[in-house]
Amino acid sequence: MQKPIEPMKDTNMKCPNCGGDHWENVDKFRLKPSGMGLCMSCGFVSYPAKWKSKEEIFAHYRTDYRNPPTHANLLRANERITFTINFFTTLSENWKAEKNRKPAICEVGAAFGASLNFFRQIFPQADVSGTELTTSMRRNAAHEFGIKLSEDIDESKTYDLIMSYKVLEHQVDPHLELERYAKLLKPGGLLYMSVPTWFKSLYNFGMSGFDLEYYFDPNHINVWTREMFESMLKRAGFEIVKADQVIYSSTYLCRVNPEMKKSQW
Ligand SMILES: [Zn+2]
Repeated sequence: MQKPIEPMKDTNMKCPNCGGDHWENVDKFRLKPSGMGLCMSCGFVSYPAKWKSKEEIFAHYRTDYRNPPTHANLLRANERITFTINFFTTLSENWKAEKNRKPAICEVGAAFGASLNFFRQIFPQADVSGTELTTSMRRNAAHEFGIKLSEDIDESKTYDLIMSYKVLEHQVDPHLELERYAKLLKPGGLLYMSVPTWFKSLYNFGMSGFDLEYYFDPNHINVWTREMFESMLKRAGFEIVKADQVIYSSTYLCRVNPEMKKSQW
């Protein structure tokens, strides 16, 4: 007989998707209990009892989350750059057409700086900056590319492009992060955003080999469907101008459009 679903204890976290505070503990569906909670108002999945504060999660990412970068990181970064070149074709042509263009580019979770270095090669005048919590990655960005990363965005500047590639699923209060990026973009500025979204390819659901642990990595403290994530972008005031759902999960180029907050979602 199935165990009844239990309310989640020991959390005051509000659902970033709907603001609700009624979480159910759904650990019984996992191989290993991990504190997974399901928002009973909207279905958003998170780990509301696992991370109590931003500082706790910062400490985890500084030292525990990733090993120092190796050649494998460089290979993966180079693969992604091919995708990025295609994704940004129109933007880079527009910027190149503007003489004396000096774009300010910020990457949140810049790892060891490969993407920022790529953009600097295309736009040698660019002002590139970024954030990274993992200390070994930050050191590598400085040594390898001469790019000094910090733990948080420099809010004294505004940006032509803010990039966040597979980072938002690791951050507490993702809806507030998006609102912050909207404020830090210059008029006409762009947000490049990629997150994993789920339930697109549960083709082997219920069959041997289906692995819930793979779909719900406890490091991914926010778990969206595509519809949920696009709603969150709109609520933060972003209009999607380009999207790719195939090659690298859900990847978007967005611009600020306050009208989006008024639309139905
Ligand atoms: Zn919710």
